[in-house]
Amino acid sequence: MDLYTMPDFDGHEQVVFGYDAATGLRALIAVHSTVLGPAAGGCRMWPYASAAEALTDALRLSRGMSYKNAMAELPLGGGKAVILGDSRKDKTPERLRAFGKLVDSLGGRYVTAEDVGTSTADMEQVACATRFVSGLPRKTGEVGGDPGPKTAFGVYLGIKAAVRFQLGRDLEGVTVAVQGLGGVGQPLCRLLAGDGVRLKVADARADAAQRIREELGAEVVAAEAIASEAADVFAPCALGAVLNSRSIPLLRARVVAGAANNQLAREEDGAALMSAGILYAPDYVINAGGIINVSHEYRGGASEAGVRADIEKIPGRLTEIFECARHGARPTSIVADQMARERLKRAA
Ligand code: NAD
Repeated sequence: MDLYTMPDFDGHEQVVFGYDAATGLRALIAVHSTVLGPAAGGCRMWPYASAAEALTDALRLSRGMSYKNAMAELPLGGGKAVILGDSRKDKTPERLRAFGKLVDSLGGRYVTAEDVGTSTADMEQVACATRFVSGLPRKTGEVGGDPGPKTAFGVYLGIKAAVRFQLGRDLEGVTVAVQGLGGVGQPLCRLLAGDGVRLKVADARADAAQRIREELGAEVVAAEAIASEAADVFAPCALGAVLNSRSIPLLRARVVAGAANNQLAREEDGAALMSAGILYAPDYVINAGGIINVSHEYRGGASEAGVRADIEKIPGRLTEIFECARHGARPTSIVADQMARERLKRAA
């Protein structure tokens, strides 16, 4: 495996492979860029089939974090950590503390937080071994805690902006199909319902969908059918790569705007959405609410009002991307990537 010729290698500053014999920790940290500040991005725990697969994920996700943090105008670079293992079976306090030591060995070049397979409680274990960690359980009156609701708030504002741009209307009476009802999907549904949105929802776990049906009167749809449901907006809030050559021709929504990371399977899928007349809200721009919260928590001295004010800048950024894309007849995904790269270049 040659790191420097891998398709996902993008001039990353540093990649660290960690192994701890005592706890069995196998983890790696990719620092994509520290040009804007310490490389920040969550720690994913996943049963990768190989170290090569874990490396590919870390390279891709850390570059995504550089773009996300640059577009959110945060004083943070981009990085990501991955722990190889099944979070339901292989996670132990000792292993998390060993991961904390690995983070600490980078001396602050990388700041970790929770991600898929890790939680705020796990970050407390990590914090036993390093101070370069955020997303810790919130103490009364402090900023921080679970970033999911903050991500949901940013996505809700982003959907509003996208609907206004593409459909020229408010959310009242609009139908939104939400895929995934976890830490982001559920609070998102509550916000949308408050604006009179008609909800169609799906989750791989029947109980999660049932709960939202009972609470908000949402229509429950089979998980494999949600992307092609008749709706004005499709909001992916579960998995990556849901927008691909198979799913795009079946989409009936005119707006795609949701929280999931890496929604486009390939770069060309952004152009396919544009050709189909679908407005796509670039994932790392619309889902920055959580990292904005993490950033305020890490830097300290912030208030809930300050976090909210920063999240409220997301719809303005999206509208700028939409206008630029329409003006240049270019996919919104390409416009966002270019803006992010320009910000990084200017800072460098
Ligand atoms: P989560 O794990 O809490 O929830 C994901 C939900 O999706 C679960 O309920 C799961 O059962 C469901 N799901 C899985 N596969 C599915 C399928 N095929 N069809 C329908 N539902 C399915 O995750 P989350 O924190 O809500 O995050 C959702 C997405 O948003 C992820 O892609 C995550 O990377 C991204 N994201 C989250 C945050 C955050 O602050 N939590 C921030 C930025 C991006």
